[in-house]
Amino acid sequence: MDQLASASALIDKCRPERPVRGLRPHAAGRAARWFLDKFPGDVAYAYKANSSVFLIGALYGAGIRHFDVASLPEIEDAATIPDAHLHFMHPVKSRHAIRRAYDLGVRSFSLDGEDELDKIMEATGGARDLLLWVRVAVTAINSRIPLERKFGAHGEKAAKLLIKTRQVAAELGLTFHVGSQTTTPDAFVTALGEVHRIIVKSGVMIDRLDIGGGFPARYPDSDPAPLQDFMDVILANIETMPVKENIKLMCEPGRALVAEAESLIVRVDARRGSNLYINDGSYGMLFDAAHLGFIFPTRLISRSVDASDPLVPFELWGPTCDSIDHMKGPFLLPDSVREGDYIEIGNMGAYARAIAGRFNGYGEYDEVILLDPPVLSMYGAENTQVAAARG
Ligand SMILES: *Cc1c(COP(=O)(O)O)cnc(C)c1O
Repeated sequence: MDQLASASALIDKCRPERPVRGLRPHAAGRAARWFLDKFPGDVAYAYKANSSVFLIGALYGAGIRHFDVASLPEIEDAATIPDAHLHFMHPVKSRHAIRRAYDLGVRSFSLDGEDELDKIMEATGGARDLLLWVRVAVTAINSRIPLERKFGAHGEKAAKLLIKTRQVAAELGLTFHVGSQTTTPDAFVTALGEVHRIIVKSGVMIDRLDIGGGFPARYPDSDPAPLQDFMDVILANIETMPVKENIKLMCEPGRALVAEAESLIVRVDARRGSNLYINDGSYGMLFDAAHLGFIFPTRLISRSVDASDPLVPFELWGPTCDSIDHMKGPFLLPDSVREGDYIEIGNMGAYARAIAGRFNGYGEYDEVILLDPPVLSMYGAENTQVAAARG
């Protein structure tokens, strides 16, 4: 695969017809090293966020050995990673998927109801070597994508489920998810308070605590608290919990490990006022921009611009014939943007590739490795957006 100094170096070299995924494995490696260094427990990468072999390779190279997987295809994929510990953390699984996962060596499963506990026990033939995680529902605070309505046992039910699971689990864990792109640490304070009360209510001693994912990435309209602040409050709150002193901890970052590690490079096929028609969209990698209102950092990469060409807001339209193929933004780009220009859309490493489909015959990408820093970062020195234009 081609390695290039930057997205603009790519456009200097060729004018790609298809949209291009620009991978920055070094950014995934840096994020992984941060978590491995700061978090005193297992760091399990949430596989669904991005399963590019280049990013998985970078995470692995940095020392990631635990993976949060949520489906059989993900497990079959991740089971090929040497020394990988797989955690099947989807609270609702088919019997076939449980059985097959168990056969592939998976011993770690999550559940949020007695029905799922029965299913796991039946599908594994009453296995006594399981690490079972009870998923509890916690209140989402300042999260872009709350998950509490779909998964998790509440209060009294959660306490009962802990007691019942304790009786069959070799190891008992408790897990929760504060919701994706949670921008303030108080979400973890509230969640750990709820977890604290459930543990007290159950009177059960847990062996492991998994604080889930939800750690934020930077976007132009989202400037989260520093990740260190999250770690500080999380560890301080765990200190006060009624758990073993040497309790084993786990976290499951997805977005925070890979958001910075991929850009999308698109071409402008038409400009109509402040509307740009580009060659990827909501059925491709821009689903979150279209349907969840995510704003990604953008920069013009096909020519240099100067101060006389101010940044102005644009809306983006994707290549399909569907009128919902529309990303409202605002996306800031030089006023002079025109047909034939190329744009780098940054910090798209989390979920964008994973969601992209093939509607209308689109959805094919070229792929390159980029060696320059990510467009926006939570880690390291370039904590500000690099100049809008190259040069
Ligand atoms: C998706 C998911 C994650 C990762 O969430 P992020 O917000 O990307 O950090 C972690 N754990 C579980 C169970 C998930 O479903």
